[in-house]
Amino acid sequence: MPHTLLLAQPRGFCAGVVRAIDVLDEVLDREPAPVYAFHEIVHNRHVVDGFRARGAVFVDSLDEVPEGARIVFSAHGVSPEVVAEAHRRQLRVIDATCPLVTKVHLETKKAAKDGYDVLLVGHRGHDEVVGTLGEAPDRTTIIDSPAEMASLPRRERPVFVVTQTTLSLEDTAQVIDAIRSEYPDAQVRNDICYATTNRQMAVRTIAERADLVLVVGSSNSSNSVRLREVAASMGKPAYRVDGIEEIDPAWYEGVGVVGLTAGASVPDELLEPIIEDLRRRGVTRVEPVVVAEETIVFQPPDASA
Ligand code: SF4
Repeated sequence: MPHTLLLAQPRGFCAGVVRAIDVLDEVLDREPAPVYAFHEIVHNRHVVDGFRARGAVFVDSLDEVPEGARIVFSAHGVSPEVVAEAHRRQLRVIDATCPLVTKVHLETKKAAKDGYDVLLVGHRGHDEVVGTLGEAPDRTTIIDSPAEMASLPRRERPVFVVTQTTLSLEDTAQVIDAIRSEYPDAQVRNDICYATTNRQMAVRTIAERADLVLVVGSSNSSNSVRLREVAASMGKPAYRVDGIEEIDPAWYEGVGVVGLTAGASVPDELLEPIIEDLRRRGVTRVEPVVVAEETIVFQPPDASA
């Protein structure tokens, strides 16, 4: 049974998630319910359910929001079309888009304006990718894998590459290699954010020593799903769970060292019951494995509207 727990560091909340959660928290404290949010404020079931219980209403269409109401845009960002529609409906918007996502929007918009065809490396349908695509939909093509490059009709304009912020470092490098082999002069911005990078490095480090890796995070959290994939790619059994209730104790059979981490949208309190449970099962050594110190803090968004 387990005797050692390796705790990846950094893990859990990133600066963009803290900013988005703080702003919705403050709005719910000071304004009467309901307070609307466009899409889940961050991709974590526990966080979203907690806000719902306090009067937040998460919508996927602005049609569901009464004219003049308060709405918070999620950390994943929205397309200019959504911004314009919110304006038409005179909604009082607080934009909690992570500044690192906003940077990708600005790169995409400028590249299209400067005459490039944009290749957006990312997962089709993810909220962030939908928002970025909306900056220049006629000039942007989503590329999800190296195989998709083979079927892409030849671009006549120069090529500019941007990426979703929460992708796998290794998979993205392969896609970018495939793009570069086709378009050696492509301008490439690798936009995978610091938080995604650090969490993947940390999970890789614990997976080297662990017999089993647990990743806490929701199924729609891109960076959490990637963390499990990184651990699994190292040949280790790896499971993503929303919380302790999803852990099957049979996973611990024959396991001496457990690695534990969490996606960027996961509150650390969700790990505490897992750590306590492992102590009850015989873990006597809890070892933080630090690969990076994070000190980034983002300024809160303008909430004066
Ligand atoms: Fe911003 Fe990265 Fe966090 Fe997404 S994961 S909110 S891009 S810091």
